[in-house]
Formats: sequence, structure tokens, C-alpha cells
Amino acid sequence: MKVKTKLPVLLIFLGMATMIVMFVVFGLLSSFSEFALLVVVFGMVVLTGFYVVFLGLMMLVALSGGISTKAILVLRYQLLMVYPLVEVFFKGEEIRLWLRNQLIEVNNQLMEKCRLKISSREMMILTPHCLQASDCGRKVTGELNHCVVCGRCSIGDLLEIEKKYGVKSVIASGGTLARKAILETRPRFIIAVACERDLTSGLLDMKKLPVWALSNERPLGPCRDTQVDIVALSQVIEKFITN
Ligand code: SF4
Repeated sequence: MKVKTKLPVLLIFLGMATMIVMFVVFGLLSSFSEFALLVVVFGMVVLTGFYVVFLGLMMLVALSGGISTKAILVLRYQLLMVYPLVEVFFKGEEIRLWLRNQLIEVNNQLMEKCRLKISSREMMILTPHCLQASDCGRKVTGELNHCVVCGRCSIGDLLEIEKKYGVKSVIASGGTLARKAILETRPRFIIAVACERDLTSGLLDMKKLPVWALSNERPLGPCRDTQVDIVALSQVIEKFITN
């Protein structure tokens, strides 16, 4: 049975609030003696463990479709808050890539369970500049219509997507431009296309905004002549669009 009350949201906030209060109490205790400091460290480890288990359990409930859209978005927010702490413990590039892929996968699964319905005007496709053919002289950043759809890169496909679904794409050459575009157009839902590293930092930057993360294809290596799977992109749009 689906839980549509505010209980899951309250539980998540309660878990977070308990953590904060306990950390403050333990912090005060630690100023008295070394023994208290040991108790503090032990207490923090135990509490963090409980909180992670709690988040994991809530995540399982969310992925089974058992909680409301609002609760899923709150849970996703908490997951994105905790994620940087997880990365701190893992140094290798390979393990970090694996972790980022897991985050992207869980984020998308949570989005799928959200049952959001968004109009084409409120949707935005956000892509990096490296999607454009590196030898193309057309200035498409900020104005996609400068592309003449010659078929050599995915930018032309994005124009086709705009024609078909009415969803606009923004080509951003960096995080600052991406943030500016979001502030100006205020979308309710973003489909972000990028490498796993940029997708992860984008998700962490936009914790409150529903974002579907789509990894790009990099046949020539990072940041050059990258591609987007247009079929996968269309499927994401069709999942969420209302018109
Ligand atoms: S489709 Fe052709 S014109 Fe458009 S950006 Fe790519 S290479 Fe340039």
C-alpha cells in the first residue's frame, strides 16, 4: 500500500534533526575530558551508521514506490547532502567513477518514482559545449539556431527534439553559465547531459531541483566531440512531458 501521508517527510527530517542535536550535545560533552571525547567519537560513528541505515531503508521504500513524490524529493535532497562525505573515503578514480554512476542511477530511479508531469515550457535540456563538433565554427552557445543541422554532431538532433517536443536545450560552456541559464529560465525539470563527474557536481549544485542525469558518450575521450543518445533523451522527455 502506498503511503501518501506526510509521515515519511517527517521521519526524514526527524532523523536529520536528531543527528544535529546529538552532534551538538556530544560536542559540548567533549570539552570536559578525554574520556568524554572518546564517547563523542564513538557516539558519532554509531549515530552516523544508524543514519546511513535509516536513509538506505527509506531509499528502498522510495524505490518500491511506497512514498509520496514530496517525500522522495526530500529523501533525494538528503542523499545529495550525504554523498560528498562518502566520496571523501574513496581516493581512486575508478572507484569514484563507480560511486558517481551509482549516484546517477539512484537519482534517476528516484525521479522515475516521482510521477512528475511537466509541460515542455518548464523542461530544460542542459548540455556541455563539447557536444558540438570541434571543427564547427558556428556559435551555438546561447543560441542553438545558429546551427545549420549539417548532421556532423548532436547539436542538430537537439534542434529536432525542440521541434518535436517543444523542449529547449541550453548549451553551457561551464557551471557558471549553466547556473545563469537556470536562474533566468527557472525550469521545473532539467535533463542534464554530461560526463559522470560534471553530472555529479551538477546534481549536488541543484539538490532542490528535479534533475534527470544522462551520461554523454565520449568516443574521442573527454571534452571533445562528445555525443548524446537521442533515443534515450527522447524516452526521458516522453516519461515526464504533459503535452
Ligand atoms: S550540426 Fe553541424 S552546424 Fe550544427 S553544431 Fe554540429 S557541426 Fe555545427
